[in-house]
Amino acid sequence: MAKIAFLGLGQMGAPMARRLLQAGHQLTVWNRTADRAKPLAAEGAVVAGAPAQAGAAAEFAITMLATPETLEEVVLGENGLAKTLGAGQVYIDMSTVGPDTVRSIAAKLPKGVAVVDAPVRGSVSAATEGRLEVFVGARDEAFERVRPILESLGSVVHVGGLGAGAAMKLVANLALGASITAVGEALALGEALGLGRVPVLNMLEGSQLAPVVRAKRANIESGHYPPAFKLRHAAKDLRLVVEAAAAADRDVKVSAASRAWLDSAVKSGAADLDFSAVVAAIVGEEPQP
Ligand code: NAP
Repeated sequence: MAKIAFLGLGQMGAPMARRLLQAGHQLTVWNRTADRAKPLAAEGAVVAGAPAQAGAAAEFAITMLATPETLEEVVLGENGLAKTLGAGQVYIDMSTVGPDTVRSIAAKLPKGVAVVDAPVRGSVSAATEGRLEVFVGARDEAFERVRPILESLGSVVHVGGLGAGAAMKLVANLALGASITAVGEALALGEALGLGRVPVLNMLEGSQLAPVVRAKRANIESGHYPPAFKLRHAAKDLRLVVEAAAAADRDVKVSAASRAWLDSAVKSGAADLDFSAVVAAIVGEEPQP
């Protein structure tokens, strides 16, 4: 069993860390809001006072944090993880931050640290039950080292070299953004043309948008959007999609429109609700927690 440091105990990080603990690994955890580490401490994890302290004795250090900016601060900032990482250790980022951030952080780490990007698809229930899809970007040797650890979290796919996992995750969330905003527009147009919401949702369940409608129909029909995947993170992801496309000279008009809807839902106060609250914003309703 391995010595693992896990940094970032949010909605996803806490259940992922718990699965590693339950798989028998020795876990040291760190979270900005220290209270969130208490349940894991009660289950046997050691709590570190700073990222650098968490990484000191770890064979593997994992981050699961909100944004590229947060990740840079936690890894490269004062008392950051990079201060104690060294040759022979493996650093795995599992946040959704895009390939540029992954590669730029990797370039600033001490020589000999193996870096792996392993962002995930699937939300809190999949994280709790070990059913995440993990997209891994790594050299072959590093992939073989991390595979047994990541397999406690779900199915593991090696998609390419460093940054490829982060790139695949952006493509996955391009699809997510396009589909949830299309559901919103479909409902808005249906209602404007005099159709009831229930028959439109029934029809959409047989359409290309079926998976997202099935997953989010209860939220849409109740008007309540408790967060599984926060809208602020979906807006961040569509920002990363649009920026990555611009840097690669690709025109992504659908993603730009999805981003605009998500940004306007953030502005209207829905940032900490589920990302599906963008549907309420599009149809002109006030989403409830
Ligand atoms: P979350 O519940 O919002 O947790 C965010 C984590 O980042 C918390 O540990 C938070 O610490 C930390 N954090 C935020 N700002 C910070 C700062 N300035 N300094 C230090 N730590 C900071 O998010 P999540 O749902 O777990 O998502 C984590 C990542 O996974 C995101 O990149 C997200 O896009 C991605 N993701 C999420 C899902 C999902 O369904 N939820 C699915 C796949 C991927 P505090 O506790 O102190 O706030």
